[in-house]
Amino acid sequence: MNLTDVATALEARLPGRVSRDASVAELTTYRVGGPAAVLVHAGDEAALLALASVLACSKPPVLLIGRGSNLLVAEAGFRGVAVVLEGDFATIEIDPDADHVRAGGAVPLPMLARRAAAVGVGGLEFFVGIPGSVGGAVRMNAGGHGRETADVLRRAWVLDLFGGAAAVEARDVDGLDLSYRHSNVDASHVVVRAEFAGEPDDVTVCEDRIAEIVRWRREHQPGGSNAGSVFRNPPGDSAGRLIDEAGLKGLRVGGAVVSDKHANFFQAGPDATADDVARLVDAVRVRVADATGVELVTELRMIGFNDREDTP
Ligand SMILES: Cc1cc2nc3c(=O)[nH]c(=O)nc-3n(C[C@H](O)[C@H](O)[C@H](O)COP(=O)(O)OP(=O)(O)OC[C@H]3O[C@@H](n4cnc5c(N)ncnc54)[C@H](O)[C@@H]3O)c2cc1C
Repeated sequence: MNLTDVATALEARLPGRVSRDASVAELTTYRVGGPAAVLVHAGDEAALLALASVLACSKPPVLLIGRGSNLLVAEAGFRGVAVVLEGDFATIEIDPDADHVRAGGAVPLPMLARRAAAVGVGGLEFFVGIPGSVGGAVRMNAGGHGRETADVLRRAWVLDLFGGAAAVEARDVDGLDLSYRHSNVDASHVVVRAEFAGEPDDVTVCEDRIAEIVRWRREHQPGGSNAGSVFRNPPGDSAGRLIDEAGLKGLRVGGAVVSDKHANFFQAGPDATADDVARLVDAVRVRVADATGVELVTELRMIGFNDREDTP
């Protein structure tokens, strides 16, 4: 089945939930880039199972889009099926004994942190500074402020869209192979829900931790259109430090620029294209390698760029 046939089959199974040649720029924090050939909005498990029943035969490229805070989609767009979770996947359940929090894959991490803190569930405050979703956090093992998702995740429920007789499977944290910005969640896997361990704590103490993290982020990170850290930190070092040391703060390609506030954040200005950002990524990589001998590796997921590995 080609992509047109896939779109037709999906429209029949999920009426009103499928669009073709749909812009996804506004679904990403960079707010640049081209369209997805097919975009599906899934609001419940039945919709995902219907989606899986079509995709399992044809296995087209699939891109889950969470909050789009770690994605750069090329101007040429994404030639596959992009999937956005909503509805049932945007709900949070907090255990009254503060033992655990369950959240759908589409829940924004700052909302999770604030809702948990407001009822005295501590330990998840670090999520307030990470503008991703629960699904994106599991996939990326997102972290900051001395904690990462692996430290607080108990299990995630995952559906393989290519899995044939698809079913949602619970995976304990040990079964997700989480390490620095890595998991074994693949492109065709959907994190539908996750359970986090909570620690009962004083509401004011939790909320003070949140306020401190928000203050720190405002002081040290730029606003505007970016996707956080572009490169992974090399072992024992910081990508931002290396970029700064190579004198690259303020380096510009078209409308994209290396932030003056945090050298590992690249800003897309109002006239920037996704290709400007990609060319800036390349320029920084080459110049850091020349200056320091270190080959930086992207943390940013770059989608639809033909000349590099696609890692949706
Ligand atoms: C200002 C700023 C600050 C940031 N700070 C941090 C930080 O401190 N620490 C950190 O780790 N990251 C940080 N990030 C990056 C980003 O927020 C994280 O990587 C986050 O986990 C991405 O989540 P997302 O929902 O936006 O995922 P997306 O960007 O939408 O996608 C990222 C990857 O996750 C996959 N994915 C998304 N949702 C699902 C799902 N439900 N099921 C399966 N796969 C899915 C996508 O297919 C893609 O491969 C920052 C970003 C910004 C813009």
